[in-house]
Order: sequence, then structure tokens, then C-alpha cells
Amino acid sequence: MNIVDLRSDTVTKPTPEMRQAMAQAEVGDDVYGEDPTINRLQEMSAEMMGKEAGLFIPSGTMGNLVAVLAHCQRGDEVILGSKAHTFLFEAGGISALGGVHSCQLASQPDGTLALEDIRAAIRADDPHYPITRLIALENTQNRCGGVVIGLEYTQAVGKLAHERGLSLHLDGARIFNAAVALGVSARELAEPVDSVTFCLSKGLSAPVGSVLCGSGEFIQRAHRIRKQLGGGMRQAGVLAAAGIIALEKMVDRLAEDHTRAKHLAQGLANIPGIVLDAGTPYTNMVFMEFTEETGLSTRQVTQRLAEQGVLVGVVGTRRFRLVTHYWIDDQAVEQAIAAFAASLRAV
Ligand SMILES: *Cc1c(COP(=O)(O)O)cnc(C)c1O
Repeated sequence: MNIVDLRSDTVTKPTPEMRQAMAQAEVGDDVYGEDPTINRLQEMSAEMMGKEAGLFIPSGTMGNLVAVLAHCQRGDEVILGSKAHTFLFEAGGISALGGVHSCQLASQPDGTLALEDIRAAIRADDPHYPITRLIALENTQNRCGGVVIGLEYTQAVGKLAHERGLSLHLDGARIFNAAVALGVSARELAEPVDSVTFCLSKGLSAPVGSVLCGSGEFIQRAHRIRKQLGGGMRQAGVLAAAGIIALEKMVDRLAEDHTRAKHLAQGLANIPGIVLDAGTPYTNMVFMEFTEETGLSTRQVTQRLAEQGVLVGVVGTRRFRLVTHYWIDDQAVEQAIAAFAASLRAV
């Protein structure tokens, strides 16, 4: 049976071209700065983000952690969304490991933070308060439905941050999905921010890694922090080689994933008992629930789907996230729709 894994785009395996590039990669000791493949990936990344420098990091979680620690001292405060990945899903690392305090503002349904909320959250200089140092945005915003954050909004937050002497970090794990959906370059989207992380290992299908980009001085600080966290790697050019293919070959095709997510949503919308989130999909994620009237539990439906080779992400009671990616073709979309129809059919 063909397995249709819609749990996440992190399940993507490297393409044959990546495996070949990995096998042939020129490598060296990156802690000495001597891995030519990593150096090339970092330069390419910085260029694509319009920043001075880049740093290859083992994961997106570590990328955001390194960024926050490079911007903030212990006791400083970062303003972020209540649905931000860094707040929800990074094991509290910024606080546990960095002593950085978080100020969580309500994530709006469109994935933004209200500008007036940000303004109100910036602390006055008073010894009772932590020092507001950083604002963090996320694009695409995962828990708000994979929604795309627009360029004008990002510019407005950048302007506000810089007027108030703050820095702006962008968790751009899926920034290329946002760029492709908006028809702009990632560079334009990252222009207003001081630092940006993006994942090579999601829709871009590389096996491992993220890149943090920012000013030369910022990346120098980030480099030391990555080492402190144990993220200094040696001959990781074998990983970076796949990342280079990801940036060269896998960005523009993300549009196909977005189209397939639309087809998947259209197919599911016709099945009695399924309710799609309003507006879904914005990019490569379909958010849906099935109704209580089906008389089925989340577990039962998940199990029935799995029996038909379809794996889904459970994000709540009777609620699923379905993510399209390189290994989901048109036939896989049809298989998923048919599996949902069969699973929800009255018993
Ligand atoms: C996946 C993801 C990350 C970090 O991912 P890792 O699994 O640690 O590589 C960070 N932010 C967002 C929005 C993500 O979706």
C-alpha cells in the first residue's frame, strides 16, 4: 500500500539528487570554518535573505534559540505571539536556557500581532520591568493555519521595532512558502527584519538543518552561542550539500504543494461530516475537523485512515492538520480524499 504521510512537511526524505550531492560533498572541519560546502550554503542563504551572513544550524528550534540569545541578555523580554512556535513548541528553551522572559500577545487569526498590542507591550524604563529587547514574528504562521504574513505588515513591525530601539526576528521556518504564495522574494519578506531563520528540512526536503541569517556582527555572536549550545558541527558539509540543492531546486516548486493542498481541501469539502477551517489552505496546510454527529472519535478516524495508508496530524479533538509536500503527488491527494470518505461513512 502506498503510504500518504500528511502529518508534516518535516517527513520529506532527501531527493535522489540530494543524496548524490551528499555523497560527493567536499567537507572540512566547520568548527575551524573549513567546510567549503557549509560555507557555500551560508553564503547562498545570506544572499537569498538579503543579509550579510548566515549560519548553518542543526534545527529550526536551535536557530530560534540562538537568535533570541544573540539578541537578548538574561532578564530581557521578547514580544511574541501566543501561537508562536517559539512559545508553544520549543520546550521553553529561551527561558530555560537563556533566562529570556516572554511577553505573549494574542496571535490574531491572520497570524499577525496587532500593532497597538505591540506598542502597549513595550516596557518603559523602570526597574520593576524586564527590558523589552526583541519582537519575534513567524511567517508562515503555522498554528494560525499556515497563513502568510504580508510584506507591508512586516515592514510596519520593523519600523515600530527600530523606532523603539528594538530588534525584530523572523521565524521563517516556511518563509519560502510565504514568498511563493505572495509572489515576492524571500529577500523582500526578510528585508524589514534584523534576523531570520528558515528550515531546509521541511518543504524544501533536505534531511537536516536550518540557517540563521543577519548582520555580520550578529552572526559572529550567534556563532559563539551555537557552540555553547553544542551545535558546532564538524564535516556537516554532507548535510549542507542537500541544503544547497534545496535552495537551488526546491523553492519554486512549493507552488505545486499549495495547489495540491487546494485540491485536497476541495475534495474534503464535499465529504459529509467534514468542516474545513475558513480560508484554508493558505499555503501547504489544510486544517479541518469532522463533526460530532459522525459518532466517531479522533482515534477511530485516525486509525481508519492509517489502515488505508493515510497519516494525518492530530491538532485537537476531531481536528487534523494535513500538510502537502514533495512526496505527495496528485494520486496521493486522491487516495487521501477517498480514505476520508470511507472513514467517515456512517457505521
Ligand atoms: C518546524 C518549525 C520550527 C523548528 O523546527 P525544527 O523541527 O526544530 O527544525 C520553528 N518554527 C516553525 C514555525 C516551525 O514550523
